[in-house]
Amino acid sequence: MSLYPRNFQLHVPTSLREAIEVLEALGEDAKPLAGGQSLIPMMKLRIAAPSAIVYLGPLKGELSYVRDGDNHVEIGALTTHSEVAESPLLRRWNPLVSETAAHIGDVQVRNMGTIGGSLAHADPSADYPAAMAALGAEIVVAGRSGTRTVPAGEFFVDAYTTSLRPGELVVAVRVPKLRGRYSAAYGKVAKIATDFAIVGVAVHVSVDERGQVADIGIGLTGVGPTPHRPRDVEEGAFGERLGPELAERIAEAVSRSVDPPTDLRATSEYRRRALRALTERALRRIHSDIARAQ
Ligand SMILES: Cc1cc2nc3c(=O)[nH]c(=O)nc-3n(C[C@H](O)[C@H](O)[C@H](O)COP(=O)(O)OP(=O)(O)OC[C@H]3O[C@@H](n4cnc5c(N)ncnc54)[C@H](O)[C@@H]3O)c2cc1C
Repeated sequence: MSLYPRNFQLHVPTSLREAIEVLEALGEDAKPLAGGQSLIPMMKLRIAAPSAIVYLGPLKGELSYVRDGDNHVEIGALTTHSEVAESPLLRRWNPLVSETAAHIGDVQVRNMGTIGGSLAHADPSADYPAAMAALGAEIVVAGRSGTRTVPAGEFFVDAYTTSLRPGELVVAVRVPKLRGRYSAAYGKVAKIATDFAIVGVAVHVSVDERGQVADIGIGLTGVGPTPHRPRDVEEGAFGERLGPELAERIAEAVSRSVDPPTDLRATSEYRRRALRALTERALRRIHSDIARAQ
């Protein structure tokens, strides 16, 4: 096992436009490098051996931000997990994203790793994808032919595989502003606190003036190659009164909606049970947050 990457050419573009041009010219064997928290370990282990690296660090001025849109908050691709976790705008309008970011790895990983890198990497045990699925987020990608927006449900294609085309970069993520009386929670089970999720659950709920579910989004990680959004379960919750009983019912339905894999980290049954417990806990917390805010 090597701990040194294969030799590679290093390109350091100074604008997004230049980065896209360089990536396009170098072809599929070139890899963009953001925070390096996934790519560098993979290169050291030679799981990845690109012949060229396009370092995105100098684009921080262009691609690191959290911005207020009309109905959404936009997060630049190079925004670190720490910046997302601490963003007052996200805490105000979409606490699911900031809470999810706070669950990623340890302080070093959060200070270096970027939201764009995490989404592009598409690890089936990563935390952000579950939140993006629950929120129906949009991923903004840019390439030589311009910019396009991809719904989270279409972005993740398979384990470590996205719908990014060769030469395209993730440039931003748009998450909706949550409305009404809402709260959100992310919970995960991991071997150690700073590790990838064995399973994780992202949930947001808004209720109407009678305390009935007006909007709900659920996203799961660790249950298959891509994040799972159990839409049938969400639909069954609309109009129901949010409380411990509904939390239990939804948790049971969520655990039945998946057929998670058995692997070295956990059995399928363990994952299912953990999901049930995490979902119920998340919904109970959301219920008490909303009740307290009244
Ligand atoms: C010890 C450790 C613990 C971790 N724990 C967790 C955890 O608990 N939960 C979790 O979710 N993650 C975890 N991670 C992964 C971490 O979140 C990474 O930061 C993230 O997966 C990749 O982001 P990055 O900016 O470091 O990307 P990089 O490592 O630089 O790149 C990752 C991949 O994405 C591509 N890429 C990067 N940016 C872009 C872009 N803008 N557009 C297109 N492609 C791009 C690269 O070419 C590469 O293929 C952990 C990592 C480590 C080292």
